[in-house]
Amino acid sequence: MLKQKINKLLIGTNNKGKLREIKSLLPKNIKIRSTSEFNLKSPIENGKTFKENSLIKSKYFSKKTGLLCLSDDSGLEIDLLNKNPGIYSARWGGKNSDFNKAIRRVYRELNKKDKNWKSKKIKARFICALSISYLNKKIACVLGKVEGQISKQPRGGNGFGYDPIFIPLKKRKTFGEMEPSQKYKMDHRYQAFKKIRKFL
Ligand code: IMP
Repeated sequence: MLKQKINKLLIGTNNKGKLREIKSLLPKNIKIRSTSEFNLKSPIENGKTFKENSLIKSKYFSKKTGLLCLSDDSGLEIDLLNKNPGIYSARWGGKNSDFNKAIRRVYRELNKKDKNWKSKKIKARFICALSISYLNKKIACVLGKVEGQISKQPRGGNGFGYDPIFIPLKKRKTFGEMEPSQKYKMDHRYQAFKKIRKFL
C-alpha cells in the first residue's frame, strides 16, 4: 500500500463512459487527470485475463505520463457463449467501437447456439478488473462483478456498451434503462472500486 495519501491520479482509459463513472466514484479531494490531456493512444491489450489487461493499461499510461494511474479492464461474460465476449467485449464492436454492432453479434451468436434462447434465462455477468500502477510497479489489482441475464431485446438509451441488453439480478430494468446513478451503485466497477479504495 502507498504510505502517502494520493492527491493526483490519472484515469487510464480512452472510454468516456468509463471515465465518467470512475470519476463519480473517486473521493473529491483527488485531482483527476485524463488521458485526453496527453493525447495518448491505448496500448495493445494482449493479456489473457481482465487483470492482466488492466495492468497493461495502468502501467502503460503511468509510464507515458509519470503519474500514478488507475485503469480498468472490463467486459461481459455470457455463459451460453462459453463466457464470450469476455476480454474481447470491446473488440466485438469492431474498429470503430460500434456498440450496436457488438450487441447484434451477441444476438447472432445466441441464435446460432440455441434457436430457443429467448424462452430461457441467459445467465451473464459484467466483470471489472481495476488496477493502480506507478510506472512499471503494480500497487493494487482487484476484481469486481455483477451477475444478471441477457434481455430478449435491447432496451434503454443510457450508459454505453452492452448496457441495453444486461438485466442485473433481482431487477427488471436493463442497465440502459436505469439512471446512471442507480447503475453506478451496483455494477462491476463499483464492486471492484469498493475493494481498491483502501489504496487511495
Ligand atoms: P475494455 O475494458 O476497454 O477492453 O472494454 C470493455 C468493453 O466491455 C467496453 O467497450 C464495453 O463494450 C464493455 N463494458 C465494460 N463495462 C461496461 C459497462 O459498464 N456497461 C456496458 N458495457 C461495458
